[in-house]
Formats: sequence, structure tokens, C-alpha cells
Amino acid sequence: MTTPITIAYGDGIGPEIMEATLRILTAAGARIAPEVIEIGEKVYARGETAGIDAASWESLRRTKVFLKAPITTPQGGGFKSLNVTVRKTLGLYANVRPCVSYHPYVATKHEKVDLVIVRENEEDLYAGIEHRQSDEVYQCLKLVSRPGCEKIVRYAFEYARANGRKRVTCMTKDNIMKLTDGLFHRVFDEVKAEYPDIETNHMIIDIGAARLATRPEDFDVVVTLNLYGDIISDIAAEVTGSVGLGGSSNIGDQCAMFEAVHGSAPDIAGRGVANPSGLLLAAVMMLVHIGQGDVAEKVHNAWLATLEEGVHTGDIYHEKVSELQVGTSAFADAVIERLGRRPSRFTPVNYAGGPPIAVSGRITPTHPARKELVGVDVFLHWRGAAAALGAQLTRLNGDGLTLSMISNRGVKVWPNGLPETFCTDHWRCRFVATDSAHPLQLSQVLSLLMRVGNAHLDFVKTEHLYTFDGVSGFSLGQGQ
Ligand code: NAD
Repeated sequence: MTTPITIAYGDGIGPEIMEATLRILTAAGARIAPEVIEIGEKVYARGETAGIDAASWESLRRTKVFLKAPITTPQGGGFKSLNVTVRKTLGLYANVRPCVSYHPYVATKHEKVDLVIVRENEEDLYAGIEHRQSDEVYQCLKLVSRPGCEKIVRYAFEYARANGRKRVTCMTKDNIMKLTDGLFHRVFDEVKAEYPDIETNHMIIDIGAARLATRPEDFDVVVTLNLYGDIISDIAAEVTGSVGLGGSSNIGDQCAMFEAVHGSAPDIAGRGVANPSGLLLAAVMMLVHIGQGDVAEKVHNAWLATLEEGVHTGDIYHEKVSELQVGTSAFADAVIERLGRRPSRFTPVNYAGGPPIAVSGRITPTHPARKELVGVDVFLHWRGAAAALGAQLTRLNGDGLTLSMISNRGVKVWPNGLPETFCTDHWRCRFVATDSAHPLQLSQVLSLLMRVGNAHLDFVKTEHLYTFDGVSGFSLGQGQ
């Protein structure tokens, strides 16, 4: 059966590498029916601020599979990132980036790297919810959800199983962010119990990133939150020395997008010298995803054979190891000639696995907890000393709420703050229930805010303090 897919030729070297990739796929017998959409520079120029128009969305939503060549992101404000828009709109929650060393054909200090970063793609600081709240302070909200964590962690374990991987390493910063990163780590611990055949470990992201840079061969599959994943996938790609050869996939419950890791390389566009390998390896991931592991295996093994036989494009050509320098089209010809052959020096790949990975039906339902309001953090834009603010706010105590603490950038400054603590104009003022045995009503919070407003204090936001089934749902101030 033929699978319809949506493709985009993109900008810069995009058309050259897409043409080469499609020629290889066709020669390998890929059972695909490509449908072309236009994205990128030309679409931005027509005034579509996200670089993609309505007809393209229709194609993407129908085929649910997108093979995308790189595009040129316009300079200047007013334009939205096409990648971020597509990822978020289509719910592509998993970004999967294999990082492999191809020693001795690609220069690297680490000869035996073969790892995969599985990065959460929708949440965390990338929700893009930012506010300026005072003269001095800006904030970005870090949102992490339980189903979001479970989806990506399950995906990582399923990916490991489907690809014969042995270990999944989770990286978080839960020693500092105990609630958000703590949730990710906790969900990892819960889910790993269902995969006793896979080894697991957890690392704090800072040491994890350092180890990736110095001992990348120790890693197999790494699963992590969005921002950390963004950073470590570049570290891992860099240490293998093969950024230009990397493909990546963005997987959702319904749709998926496959692309090269590199950009549109305008400096070499139109010269027929670009290396099509990144997009080709992305296409290999796409074939596995649509259940054509047989074709994926044939293409990938022919590509490995081409590489080890020294047929190289200019970006990786080196006289010591290369036999022949070729352009984009001749490289594609060389891969096509080798279809059906397996590499002898590299380990051949095997994609004989089962159906595509699907985790959506297995996410644990969240049951509503007994949620009780026990206080409120009122954030003020204010200039002055902590003691003066404490004195002023204490006078607003009443109606079941009592000021318990003031912090500045998370550090407790009242009561008993230290003069050494640097303070900005942004104060978190924590009011808690005077009688802890009795949960608060929203009306008590509203009347407190009325008193704050009437005292001409500029409150810029509030955060409610809840317990969930008796467990605190908020962090303490540093020093509290
Ligand atoms: P780039 O990856 O396009 O190029 C960096 C360097 O690597 C250049 O010297 C280029 O010639 C070389 N290179 C990249 N791919 C190559 C290939 N396949 N074969 C041979 N050499 C290759 O990064 P850049 O120059 O920072 O960005 C160029 C444009 O691409 C920008 O507009 C950027 O926003 C965009 N971009 C798009 C994507 C995407 O669509 N997914 C990703 C990254 C960058």
C-alpha cells in the first residue's frame, strides 16, 4: 500500500537535497506518494507570518507525515518560527535526534558514539509565556504537565525497546526545581518500572551535559525536558563531529515531521555540492515511522556502505580517508548503486521491528485531587526596604490571612532578612491562612487584594497556594 506524505523543498540547498533524497527513496522502492507544499521564504514574502499557508495545513492534517527540507528564517521582527508553529500546532511532543560518530570518515575525538536524545518538544519554558512585571523584572513561565512528562518518558522507553537500545538516562534539575523537574523525574521512576528489560539512571542536567561532552560513548537513550534537550542535542551532535549528517524526527499522536538538523546553507545553495545525508537519514526515520522498515534498512545500509567506501561530498571529504569527492547528485547515484548492499566496516542497521511507536492510549488518567486553598503569594512592583514593606503589609492582615514571608527573587528578606541580599523592585509577599485547620475561600483572597489595592500597592500578579490531597503544591522561599 502506498502512503501519502507531504513534502516541502524549502530554501537554499533544500531543493537540491530533497531531489537527491526522493531519487534514492524511489530507487529503493519506498511506497510513498509525495504531495508538495510550499513553505519558507516565498510564503513569508507573501505576508504569511509563520511561513506556511492554509492549503499546506490541509495537506499536513490529511497525510499526517511531513518530510521537510530546511528553510531560511527571515531576519527581523514580525516573523514566527515555522518549526515551532508546526510542532505546537500538530502536537509533535517528541523530538528524536540520533547522534552517531562515523569514525574514521568524519573527524571526531569520540569514535564510538551512538546515542539518541529524546527531547520533550511542547512544554517547559518553550510555552513562550513571558511577561514584564516591573521596571527591573521579566518572567518566563515554566509549565510542565503530568501527561506531557508521561508521553515523552514512555516514548523514550518504547523507542529504546523498538530499537534494541539497552539504557535510558533521564536528565533533570530536580535538586533545584523540585515541583516541575521533580514531576518529570517522578514520572520517569514510575514508568521505568514497566520496562524491567531496560537499564535506567538519572543525572542532574549539569553533570549530564558535561559527561555528554567528555564521555558521550557512555550514553544510549537520553530523555529530558525541552530546554535541556535543545542544548544537549547540540552538544551531542557536535562531539560526534557530524552535525551536517544528522536527521531528526518530531513525533506526535497523530502527525510527525522529519527533517535534517542543519539549516538551508545559503552560502553553498545552487552549486550542487550540498550533502543530502541529513535529510536522507530523516527520511529513513520517516520510513520506519510509516511502517516501511524494510525500505528504511535498505537505504540506511546503502548509505553506510557509500560512506565507508569513501564516496564523500565536500563537507566531509578528507584525502586520508576519502576515495572520491562528489556533488549532491553523484552522491545520490552512489547510494542508489549500493542499494541492497550492507556495510562491512560499520554495523549494518536493522529496522525489522514492529508497528510504529504509539503511546497516546497508555497515558495514566489524572484523577482530581482534594484541592485546598491555604494561602496566596501576592507579587508587588515596589521600591524600598524589605522591613518597611513588611510593616506596611502586616497592617493588611485580617479576614483569615496573615503575612508569613516576603521574598525577593526567591530569597526570604522578611522577617529577619540579611542586609547583604540584593533586592530588585519585585517582591513576593506570602499570606497564609491564619488558622491552618481551615482552608480559605477565594473571597478572602479577593478582599486581601482590595486592601492591597486601597493601600496604593501595585500588585502585578498572584499565585494561589494549594495543597493537593494534603500535599503542599508550592515551594518554600530560600531561607524560609
Ligand atoms: P546552516 O546549517 O544552514 O549552515 C552552517 C554551515 O554548514 C554552512 O557553512 C553550510 O554551508 C554548512 N552546511 C549545512 N548543511 C550542509 C550540507 N547539507 N552540506 C554541506 N554543508 C552544509 O546554518 P546557518 O548558516 O546558521 O543557517 C542558515 C539558514 O538556515 C538560516 O536562515 C537559519 O535560520 C536556517 N535554519 C533552518 C533550519 C530548519 O529549517 N530546520 C535549521 C537551522 C537553521
